[in-house]
Amino acid sequence: MMTWPKQSEVLSGRSVYGNPKSRTPGVSSAKWEAENLVYVKAPFVMTFAGQKLTSGMKVHRHCAASLARIMDAIWAASGKDQKVIDHWGLSIYSGGHVFRLMRDGVALSMHSYGCAVDFDRARNDLFDRTPRFAEFPEVLKAFADEGWRWGGDWNGNGSSADERRADGMHWQATA
Ligand SMILES: [Zn+2]
Repeated sequence: MMTWPKQSEVLSGRSVYGNPKSRTPGVSSAKWEAENLVYVKAPFVMTFAGQKLTSGMKVHRHCAASLARIMDAIWAASGKDQKVIDHWGLSIYSGGHVFRLMRDGVALSMHSYGCAVDFDRARNDLFDRTPRFAEFPEVLKAFADEGWRWGGDWNGNGSSADERRADGMHWQATA
């Protein structure tokens, strides 16, 4: 299993994910993006905002191979059946790298570092303590086997602002 940095280390800007901030508040560093972001394609069909996702998922290069292995494991667990993937909701991509703040309005979201991905937001929304992904242990296992943390486990006891509310659509490559 990969060893991921803690979220607090990521937020320091000194982890393997680097520092995506630029001199302009609210704007990602173009240099950091060019040096670090890559696209990962799943072996099944995905949509984003209702359109077929042709580019792949935009994430940090440091966790890209791991995300590809997760998608391969989920594809194998589905019996390589797109209908099963659709049923699980993994074919509904809800976003990877996006430069934005956490809900506390201060710290950057893990999405800003490219180490977080969201799926099927409509059925696994923020604050939902019974996210639909909980019904599919094959999906949870594939991410857990690679050491990714699931936001569906966050129940209000976390130490960071993000971890204080359930986020069942969300996985991140942090310890
Ligand atoms: Zn997310």
